[in-house]
Amino acid sequence: MSLIFYSNKVEDSVWFQRRPRRVSQSDPSAPKYPCSNCQSVFSRKHNLQYHLKFECGQMPRFNCPYCTYRTRHSSNVRAHVRKIHPGLQVYVVDIAKCCKTEFIS
Ligand SMILES: [Zn+2]
Ligand SMILES: [Zn+2]
Repeated sequence: MSLIFYSNKVEDSVWFQRRPRRVSQSDPSAPKYPCSNCQSVFSRKHNLQYHLKFECGQMPRFNCPYCTYRTRHSSNVRAHVRKIHPGLQVYVVDIAKCCKTEFIS
């Protein structure tokens, strides 16, 4: 009897931890650090700073011109195009430059 109750409890705690955007109601007085660029909310300032630095503020800016592949390094896109889209022109879409394309032969 008590075994079943125990396993339910474990699943609950995992469920909460897998949803970083939903701040748990366990501590409503905890300070919240919402990201100003997206919907994410963090309970620790450090997590917000990490998010801004590596996730939100550092969006992968180099896009494959032929599919949705995106990466932080233009060389990755060139390697990707050669491998996934053989025969097509190899160039990189730099979304940080307002959709201008960067031609690399
Ligand atoms: Zn964000
Ligand atoms: Zn592609």
